[in-house]
Amino acid sequence: MSNLRRAAHKRLALNSFPITTSQSFPALWNVHYVNLAKSPVVNTNMKWLPAHLELSLSDSELSCLKALDRSKLATITSLKAMISRMLSDVFHIGQPPHLILLRLSPNSGYACNVLVLFLECLRLDLSAHTVVADASVLALTPAVLEIQAGQQLLDLMEPSSEAMKFEINDAETTAWWQLLPVLAERCRTWTHTSSCKYSNDASESLQEEQNSNQDSPLCGCGSGQDILPSLLQSDWKDVAPYTTRIALSPLFAMAYLESIGSSARDKSFGLDVDTDDVPSGDVCRVCGGRGKPKIMSCSVCYKVKYCSRACQKGDWKRHKVECRKGLAKGNF
Ligand SMILES: [Zn+2]
Ligand SMILES: [Zn+2]
Ligand SMILES: [Zn+2]
Repeated sequence: MSNLRRAAHKRLALNSFPITTSQSFPALWNVHYVNLAKSPVVNTNMKWLPAHLELSLSDSELSCLKALDRSKLATITSLKAMISRMLSDVFHIGQPPHLILLRLSPNSGYACNVLVLFLECLRLDLSAHTVVADASVLALTPAVLEIQAGQQLLDLMEPSSEAMKFEINDAETTAWWQLLPVLAERCRTWTHTSSCKYSNDASESLQEEQNSNQDSPLCGCGSGQDILPSLLQSDWKDVAPYTTRIALSPLFAMAYLESIGSSARDKSFGLDVDTDDVPSGDVCRVCGGRGKPKIMSCSVCYKVKYCSRACQKGDWKRHKVECRKGLAKGNF
């Protein structure tokens, strides 16, 4: 195990998505099961979808995303932001199955460099009041790369391609490696074989480092089972036998731990969203300016900032409502 990977493990500290094996039966701890076939398909142009996805991030996570370098983000935050972006954008690129490529960190120590996600459609997860992408995952292993379609998928990592792609760091690689078996398990319609690593060595967690030389994060029992219909119709049908069905959902923040959605509420009040509610955000809420010469606050609530009297005056008609009600940012 490389030092970098060790560091990634340390940074992740705990596996966020544990699977246990009880009597050779894999059980999920913190992700619920979904029946994809019975979940209705959602039109991905629905107006509520971007707002819904934004609620997967808490206010503090959103401000970190705006203020911090990606390498400094908590792994779970960048994972959530990545999934939220995937689900909001990918359905508008190309035809189903919509492609997402993840280039794993070269230091991760896994014998596979690229994971491909095929997204067929978005479905309603009625029990959880959210959406779930009906998808499958393919690891571009040496065996897959011997197939022409596998090579063509790898070529899509080129900067010139239109495909949605992410270069992920060490910690994010570990997180995806842990998450993917969970996403497969939660919508499993097939049975694990007797030689499956879940049943083989129940005492060892599936997701632990002894598996780090594996070329796929998944056990393989689900490969080629329950193939996405659109994949079989596509240019990538030759790699279909290597794919495993997954149910990819946004990962939500917990409202009892962190405040969520004040920017979404601002929008519904018809207010401009002050995107700079982090310490670096001492800019005018009207023009974004830095102060002429000094940034000033509203003298009633002290919660909003202006560069000049002119900007404050222009904003007053709107601000006086939230100012009086104490609704300006910072009071949620
Ligand atoms: Zn298995
Ligand atoms: Zn201004
Ligand atoms: Zn005020």
